[in-house]
Amino acid sequence: MPVKAAAQIVVVGGGPAGLAAAASAAECGKRVLLLDENPLPGGQIWRAKNGTITAEAEGWRQRAQAAGVEWRGGRQAVAAATGQLWLEHAGGVEVAAWEELILATGARELLLPFPGWTLPNCCGAGGLQALVKAGLEIRDKRVLVAGSGPLLMAVAAFLRQQGARVLLIAEQAPAGQVAAAALHLPPAKLRQAWQLRRATRGVPFLAGCWVEAAEGRQQLERVRLRRGVRRWSLECDYLACGFGLTPNSELGQLLGCALTAEAGIAVNRWQQTSVEHIWCAGEAAGIAGVEAAWRSGEIAGYAAAGRQERTAPLLARRDREQQSSQRLLRRLAPRAELRALAQDTTWLCRCEDVTVGEARPYANWREAKLQTRCGMGACQGRICGAAARFLWGWQINAARPPILPARVGTLAQAAPAPSISTEVTV
Ligand SMILES: Cc1cc2nc3c(=O)[nH]c(=O)nc-3n(C[C@H](O)[C@H](O)[C@H](O)COP(=O)(O)OP(=O)(O)OC[C@H]3O[C@@H](n4cnc5c(N)ncnc54)[C@H](O)[C@@H]3O)c2cc1C
Repeated sequence: MPVKAAAQIVVVGGGPAGLAAAASAAECGKRVLLLDENPLPGGQIWRAKNGTITAEAEGWRQRAQAAGVEWRGGRQAVAAATGQLWLEHAGGVEVAAWEELILATGARELLLPFPGWTLPNCCGAGGLQALVKAGLEIRDKRVLVAGSGPLLMAVAAFLRQQGARVLLIAEQAPAGQVAAAALHLPPAKLRQAWQLRRATRGVPFLAGCWVEAAEGRQQLERVRLRRGVRRWSLECDYLACGFGLTPNSELGQLLGCALTAEAGIAVNRWQQTSVEHIWCAGEAAGIAGVEAAWRSGEIAGYAAAGRQERTAPLLARRDREQQSSQRLLRRLAPRAELRALAQDTTWLCRCEDVTVGEARPYANWREAKLQTRCGMGACQGRICGAAARFLWGWQINAARPPILPARVGTLAQAAPAPSISTEVTV
């Protein structure tokens, strides 16, 4: 039988939103369990580097610890039912029982297919950053940073600091939209953008420029770029290419939570989902940046602990931050030309070897899954599902357990739970 853990409030995700939610709820006197798949808290932006916790995450960790939060790292929530979560860890499976559940599972990068996008050394922008934080040697490597959004500049600055030769930052949005987005940034964000630009001084930044293809024999050798009518190739060792973020809403979907049009978990003013006793904070509910993430975490923590009055000073600030991020993201929306890049022979689902041409004829995601097996491999459609939504406007809302790759032993132990299927997707 799986080991059991219980708390009044269980928080899934130890990033800014989850840390803030756990600390706030515990400060209201609740027994709180905070878990994350990573061994140390921090999430994406405050990700531990080479096993060392970052200063920002350490500040929140201390606050959470002082309030009595129980931290459980190295645990992936792979399935959920009312009142229970199944957690896989290196040594086995645990079942965590909850009265209130706060989902703070963050977001992942939106990767869009173009010819060659699955070649070795073609990574997501944040993906390459995470690999370097985990120890990948990038010194003196030639890196092209491309795609869209504020993450590009942050990644370029980080890679350069780590000794990479960043050749170019290519932002797909037109120059006019980038300038308008910058003009509408709140002063603190504008300062941050300016600092990042200084940190990448000397690296060309081209707006209205995008990757048409990645080429190489065994691995990436060069990237074909386009800007207006101009097309050219650039030799490089790594391509760091991402088109913004998409929410990790699968746990919420499993539990029946309604979604927003942008595939985030829909929440009300107090971060409560459409399902009673389930709350959601941070980017799992919508992409809005780190400040909005931890503020929404505090709101969720207080509200889940039954202390809504404590959220009053936080609501307006969270709303302002969310609105400013939404304005920015609208300006940087992926251009229509990106839909035409993938050829019939371009991979859509690399787990199950399904091409764009094989999936395209179907009317929706469900039919394409049934007929081609796209989205049924190890990543359960986390990459190709978001790409299919962008390419063909398909609704991707059919998460099923396990939501992350899990050991057969975990499935067997979780089998008695009514919501867990032991069907093997091979
Ligand atoms: C790859 C990547 C890199 C980024 N880099 C930057 C950057 O350099 N600068 C910047 O300003 N912003 C960056 N961002 C955006 C930034 O991460 C967010 O604004 C902010 O971290 C959101 O906080 P959060 O708590 O909502 O989510 P996150 O910080 O993403 O935290 C969510 C946590 O939940 C965990 N989790 C998810 N699902 C499960 C599960 N089923 N079981 C257990 N644990 C789970 C994740 O591992 C993660 O630790 C990045 C985002 C991504 C995806």
